[in-house]
Amino acid sequence: MRTSFLLSNARVFLDGRFESCSLRIVGSRVQEIGPSLCPNGNDILLPLEGACIVPGLINSHDHLELNLFSRLGDPPYSNYVEWGNDIRARHKEQIRHVMRVSLRLRLLWGAYKNILSGVTTVVHHNPYYLYFYFGFPIAVYRNYSWIHSLSFDPRLQKKLKSGGRKVRIIHLAEGVDSLARGELARLQELGGLQSNTVLVHGVGLSPDDCLQIERSGAGLVWCPGSNMFLFNRTAPIASMPASIPVALGTDSTLTGHTSLFDELREARRLTHRDADRLLGMVTSIPARMFGMASGKITEGATADLLVFDQESGEPFSDFLNLDAGKIKVLFKAGLPLLGEEGLKPLLTGHGRRAYERIAVGGRRKFIASPFGSMARRIKAILPSFNFNGLPLKLEEN
Ligand SMILES: [Zn+2]
Repeated sequence: MRTSFLLSNARVFLDGRFESCSLRIVGSRVQEIGPSLCPNGNDILLPLEGACIVPGLINSHDHLELNLFSRLGDPPYSNYVEWGNDIRARHKEQIRHVMRVSLRLRLLWGAYKNILSGVTTVVHHNPYYLYFYFGFPIAVYRNYSWIHSLSFDPRLQKKLKSGGRKVRIIHLAEGVDSLARGELARLQELGGLQSNTVLVHGVGLSPDDCLQIERSGAGLVWCPGSNMFLFNRTAPIASMPASIPVALGTDSTLTGHTSLFDELREARRLTHRDADRLLGMVTSIPARMFGMASGKITEGATADLLVFDQESGEPFSDFLNLDAGKIKVLFKAGLPLLGEEGLKPLLTGHGRRAYERIAVGGRRKFIASPFGSMARRIKAILPSFNFNGLPLKLEEN
């Protein structure tokens, strides 16, 4: 029999607003949403007492295998080429040391870093590795082709001619000098600016570039933490035509914030946008941009859900104040990936997934395996690994 959870007395983010209602998950899907759902015989009842539910978040840009690094470089830089060359020269040993950790372990930490930010779907920039198909804890968006950048991709011409209608993702205008400022025009000359193009960064975009992007129907992924670290400047989000879809990404920890929650706060600081628009940048906007079914809570949708307590009585501001310790439960396709220790007896033991205990910011949580063995194996190679600054502690299981 499929597991059935009734999340009752919650404030659920529906059609741009938080509504008081209950929600039934059956198997991997949201089966029913309503103001007064009664438990049926199969339901496991989770009384939420006014806690908030938003869609599991979408991180629109990451390099999942590069998150064991801390921020590298000596900024500010003029462009990404200068940064890339500088860290390869200056931090050669450190890079070599981190890359001794197996690809599988590095990808797994990339997944957990995202889970601890309330993320259930990530857009990975690099090859779609086989590991993503087999028991990987979060969903990795699949229908993409990717170009690293106009300067760094040895197969640029070939990639521009292939990929069909898949979403084509490319780092672009990542910098503040003439190289970065000229990249949009160069991409256009190469025929690479189309409605299925997603540009990442856009720091060096001019007002005219933005008009060209608007005309093409392309989208932009904004990584404010990475931009501010490297250039102390970011993409002209506030002055862009409103019709350009803008989604939010962390990038890897080589340059970005560890947590998508911190990127949301950086985005608010830089644009003063309302919290509902910022929430859209990690849910509905990337879902549309990438053609994903996730990013919204509706009957029949995959049950990717982020649950957090109300602290202020204002769900949007509580959302913007989230950190890993404040996640009450994170469901991926109807099963929890992370949750409060006290909810473990209710929420776990219904599928084949095993769980472990951790503490986050002093709060006890359960988290989907194999978190502990992953962490111990990484620490055996990198004893100084500190979960990229997240306040995590492994607990005895
Ligand atoms: Zn990137």
